[in-house]
Amino acid sequence: MTQKPDKMPTELIDRFGRRVDYVRLSVTDRCDFRCVYCMTEDMTFLPRKQILSLEELHEVGRAFTELGVRKIRLTGGEPMVRKDVMSLIENLGALDGLEELLLTTNGAQLDKYAPALKAAGVNRINISIDSLDEERFTRISRVGQLQKVLEGIDAARAAGFERIRLNSVIMRGYNEDEVLKLADYAMDREIDIAFIEEMPLGEASDHDRQDTTCSNDWVRQVITDKYELVDSAERTAGPSRYVQVVGKNSRIGFISPVSHNFCEDCNRVRVTVEGRLLLCLGNEHSVDLRAILRDPGKDFNDLKQAIVDSMAIKPERHYFYDKDHVQPVRLMNMTGG
Ligand code: SAM
Ligand code: SF4
Repeated sequence: MTQKPDKMPTELIDRFGRRVDYVRLSVTDRCDFRCVYCMTEDMTFLPRKQILSLEELHEVGRAFTELGVRKIRLTGGEPMVRKDVMSLIENLGALDGLEELLLTTNGAQLDKYAPALKAAGVNRINISIDSLDEERFTRISRVGQLQKVLEGIDAARAAGFERIRLNSVIMRGYNEDEVLKLADYAMDREIDIAFIEEMPLGEASDHDRQDTTCSNDWVRQVITDKYELVDSAERTAGPSRYVQVVGKNSRIGFISPVSHNFCEDCNRVRVTVEGRLLLCLGNEHSVDLRAILRDPGKDFNDLKQAIVDSMAIKPERHYFYDKDHVQPVRLMNMTGG
């Protein structure tokens, strides 16, 4: 039963006592790249009527902020390929109670959009880059051009975001010899970098993930051979841990959902562009918010109530590569990275 608006909770707490104050909102499943770890080469994307409109996405963001969410990350697919995405970003940036609006992007369009994103209220930006070698970059992204991304990174730096972080997925046989090169590139520009372990989300079509996945313990050792690293006190309530590089102004993050499990601190949920509220990256537990948004008999309070009720099914943890547990069939572009 829908609670009266004045009885609606103002924070989201799951049954393990974890407070959810962070939402990753996918604004599209489409992308101008086809990264080997994220998509197959011949992707079929969702028909338009199945995806949330910009207004519906805004309603979802508003419902979450009224329930105590302080941080929204826009992701996808590639958020910047969604038509009129800037109007959504401006509207989300104006939501009461929202403290941080974040964007994860492949960077290819930042040369055009970086100043407008900053003006719309985006505080921090993550830019994915897996190689600094042109040919390799195109092998990994299948169609992307390194130069466009490098220009995007420069544009983001010039626009003055609070923080810029590069994201690199290190894969054996693709780019494992570029760990130091990528770290140095970030440090030379005084921006952060996070190394992400390749996750078994759906099947990769060009390789077997068990052959390519590099553990972050290994990546960290490569960096430690050259630099002194000091654990950072900052907790991110997720599978990432940061270190400060002694003598540098950059932090290095290790996002290790495969080799380490930090689920006990989890503070986040995801909403796919179809309006499916996913309670955990590595599980299928979800609630169909689109059905509520499009039901003429339901209103904004029903939407909020469904989000409140979803806390009862947020799983305790994920079990990547555990044969006793079902593995996710969703590819990352459908999940919202
Ligand atoms: N298109 C944007 C981008 O590439 O940054 C945003 C969406 S993308 C799905 C978000 C992040 O997920 C990227 O940093 C990407 O490298 C990462 N990613 C995608 N598939 C992954 C996988 N199977 N394992 C680990 N990270 C993955
Ligand atoms: Fe596109 Fe990002 Fe997936 Fe690469 S990782 S295919 S850029 S959505």
